[in-house]
Amino acid sequence: MTKWPLVALLGCVAAVVVTVLLTVPFPVLPGAHPHVDVLRDFTPAQLAREDAFHSAVRPPAYASLLVGLLVAGVLGLTGLGARLVGALPGHWTVKAVLGTTLVLVVGRVVTLPFDVQAERVLRRYGLSTQDWAGWTDDLLRGLGIQAVMSALVVVVVLALARRATATWWAWGALAAAALTVLGSFVYPVVVEPAFNRFTSLPAGQLRTDLLALADKDDVPVQDVLVADASRRTTALNAYVSGFGSTRRIVVYDTLLRTSSPREVELVVAHELGHAKRQDVLHGTVMGAFGAAAGICGLFLLLSWSPLLRRVGASSAGDPRVVPLVLFLAAATPLLVAPLANLVSRHVEARADLHALELTGDVDTALASEKRLSVVNLSDLDPNPLVYAFFFTHPTGPERIALAREWERLHR
Ligand SMILES: [Zn+2]
Repeated sequence: MTKWPLVALLGCVAAVVVTVLLTVPFPVLPGAHPHVDVLRDFTPAQLAREDAFHSAVRPPAYASLLVGLLVAGVLGLTGLGARLVGALPGHWTVKAVLGTTLVLVVGRVVTLPFDVQAERVLRRYGLSTQDWAGWTDDLLRGLGIQAVMSALVVVVVLALARRATATWWAWGALAAAALTVLGSFVYPVVVEPAFNRFTSLPAGQLRTDLLALADKDDVPVQDVLVADASRRTTALNAYVSGFGSTRRIVVYDTLLRTSSPREVELVVAHELGHAKRQDVLHGTVMGAFGAAAGICGLFLLLSWSPLLRRVGASSAGDPRVVPLVLFLAAATPLLVAPLANLVSRHVEARADLHALELTGDVDTALASEKRLSVVNLSDLDPNPLVYAFFFTHPTGPERIALAREWERLHR
């Protein structure tokens, strides 16, 4: 009974690995030996400032993460959460939706003091421009979106588990993969606008130059959007999201206000690199297989009767499994973070190289990477554990070293 879901789980994991091997370059720049030297580009004062910032912001940030996981673990693994959900009134779908919301709200409330503390640090260092009304608004919107999406997935999984006791893993895996792909289309048009307002970059020299750059790169771009990030942060950033008809290049208004046109071009060239290599599409494919693997793993865990007995649920379709499912959903991303980040850092380094190839502008790349690192108070020399678990991008000094190495190899 558990043979096929196990085969499917291993198959999906293999599919993720194959997608990574086919789409991600190891190494990013063959023959390169980038030499990272933090003190060549950053002053001891800059290092001390980011170090002081991280020493202040990380304790509350990590406490929030750990306490959140701990509470989810207590609710999910001890039977406490199951009893709470069992005591809720109504049809199983009502119990599942209310139970999901309840667990997520409890998780948010217990981490609130740490989140407030982290936000205070961001403000003290001038990184956050929000007031508490705006911050609370973001928090509630984020929680609302998370609750709706989680409840949707939980109800789908439980409905399948109640209808097809032995084969729900297969239907669930298909549904999870489909929801991941759908989410990738929907995210830029539903979730992003819930937090930011987007406007087209107005007509002018910069817009003309950026679209010409995309044209030169053979990347179809309908529009370059500006996000009003300044109501939240002073950090400088840009990103590409969605694919196909929802693909968009988004530039923070903070970047436009404080950067030279050449810098903005370089940042957009990096984003064009993501678009050209279909990084969002590949990430979605990996995510879809990963989600399907997650459902197969969930089936195997929920078929394990000692675990069900322990949490006090009668079957995989019993809404009392909800706290356990939510704990697993919270813990798994952290477990796979080191591998996911390793892949992400390679993809990011490739986009950096693409920007250099497209613009040939190494000097601006070096200057802009230095400035972005300083303005964003990036950790210039993170400890290896922090790097493995939280760094989706190479560090500023690593990106500088790679740009210098690219220049050396192309001179
Ligand atoms: Zn990037």
